[in-house]
Amino acid sequence: MPSNPKNTRKCCVCKEHADKSELIRLVKTSDGVKIDTTGKMDGRGAYVHRNEKCIDACIKKFALNAAFKGAVAKEVYDELKNQL
Ligand SMILES: [Zn+2]
Repeated sequence: MPSNPKNTRKCCVCKEHADKSELIRLVKTSDGVKIDTTGKMDGRGAYVHRNEKCIDACIKKFALNAAFKGAVAKEVYDELKNQL
């Protein structure tokens, strides 16, 4: 069941909206882009579906570079795979 629409965010890969619980949050910090596992980190965020399809596409298309308008470390993409 879709919950409160206020809790939906857009996946930066497929551009579909989904509940926050179905998405991985990434945040641009002064230290670079990080995967926000707590959902509480400050900064500009981007979201990716927690599924193989979107994570794979994200890695292939470097979707995070586009979402954050800059280079995102390869380690971040590697780490995304561990979120499955
Ligand atoms: Zn998606």
